[in-house]
Amino acid sequence: MTNRPDGRKADELRKMHAKVGVIKRADGSALFQIGDTIAIAAVYGPRELHPRFLQNPEKAVLRCHYDMASFSVTERKKPGPSRRSVEISLVTQKALGSVVDLKLFPNTVIDVFIQIIQANAGTRCAGITAAAMALAHAGVSMKEMVAAISVGKIGDKVVLDLTKEEEDFESGASDIPVAITSYDKSVTLLQLDGEVTRKELSEALKLALKGCNEIFKIQEKVLKEVYTQQPFLEKSGVSQKQPLAASGGKK
Ligand code: ADP
Repeated sequence: MTNRPDGRKADELRKMHAKVGVIKRADGSALFQIGDTIAIAAVYGPRELHPRFLQNPEKAVLRCHYDMASFSVTERKKPGPSRRSVEISLVTQKALGSVVDLKLFPNTVIDVFIQIIQANAGTRCAGITAAAMALAHAGVSMKEMVAAISVGKIGDKVVLDLTKEEEDFESGASDIPVAITSYDKSVTLLQLDGEVTRKELSEALKLALKGCNEIFKIQEKVLKEVYTQQPFLEKSGVSQKQPLAASGGKK
């Protein structure tokens, strides 16, 4: 199939760019761009959780905060939390929670702030992908990585990584954000906006796996670069003589 507005094939991702160490004051941070969608994630912690009654003596509390900047979309978005941002923060926490070794850090909190600075569909997926990189960059112990991508149906065709223009397709589109872990290939996020048949869903999941496998390669490349080029203390901002960022990208 061609006929996608930007000329991509059905199983083709938008151009990607990733970078870690974008926010020096954070314990870990990352930027992930896919097409015109740009997400920045910053991780603070693990640190002691206050007030204390919120602490869990058996494991860390993972808190995710998703927000879309007012200027990220063409028509200014009303600032502040919304039902949508609360929902996305929650599904992000669920998508990442199973891979983080929370039992290693009892009584602590790990805060993950995700800011969408430019939106053109797939923002929750870009946010999850950036957040997983930021957690790894912070040195938080993780069993595996997580990447996320949206798949969907435009007309009767299943395609990977929809743009906003495709999501708004006049005769209807279905959007399926999916997050997958790098080793077990477990699905940690699966949402559906629209209608698909069982066969289409299975086709969509295969496409999502293909997309996530491409994203894992970029995540790994960028994280390996920063850890092999710089000792841990420099990465964490103790010495700031060298640039902190490494970057990688598809194509
Ligand atoms: P996702 O961002 O994960 O695709 P949604 O399906 O909620 O989640 O949103 C689809 C797209 O719609 C977003 O990526 C963004 O481009 C756009 N969008 C969401 N909220 C707004 C808003 N308040 N104003 C303008 N565009 C928005």
